Amino acid sequence: MDRTPAEASPSNILCASCGLCCNGVLFDWVPVADEEVAQIGRLGFDLAKEDGETRFSQPCPMFDGCRCTVYADRPARCRAYRCELLKKAEAGEVAFPDAMRLVAEAKALVDQVRPQTESNGQAGSLGKRWAILFKEWQSKPAAGRMDEAESRFLLQMTALNRFLDKHFRHENQRRVMEE
Ligand code: SF4
Ligand code: SF4
Repeated sequence: MDRTPAEASPSNILCASCGLCCNGVLFDWVPVADEEVAQIGRLGFDLAKEDGETRFSQPCPMFDGCRCTVYADRPARCRAYRCELLKKAEAGEVAFPDAMRLVAEAKALVDQVRPQTESNGQAGSLGKRWAILFKEWQSKPAAGRMDEAESRFLLQMTALNRFLDKHFRHENQRRVMEE
């Protein structure tokens, strides 16, 4: 999220209604550049080194009620980030009211899968919780045989990720492989 709700521009209104790039729906972590690790650490982020880069996990601990609580000091990656939908809306390729509708649709799809992803008390991004659930299913005695609720959830997760891939994620960040 790159905007402050203090300025009532169409972009700010869109982001203030969304938050999917901060709340663990679109991403599992945010990388922090080496030169800002000390400053970001002082803000209270729990930083970890993984795959050669410093990161903090999503949902972002500084995200509160669709607002970035460290907006003035947020990491460079957050300042620079714009999802594909925001870019298209700012370029006039998608009308802002349509972008708002797509955000609402994405949030409705997230709400569909929320009970299942939160059912085993796991924390972390949606992607991480989903991976843990999937592992649990695979280790069940009747491996490979999902019950009806699990099958429905699998379809809902796929639909959600397709939607996020199509409207929000850059092509390098997509989660669902197209046949
Ligand atoms: S996902 Fe896009 S529209 Fe939503 S808050 Fe982030 S930049 Fe804004
Ligand atoms: S620091 Fe702010 S902009 Fe960056 S992920 Fe956290 S809430 Fe979002």
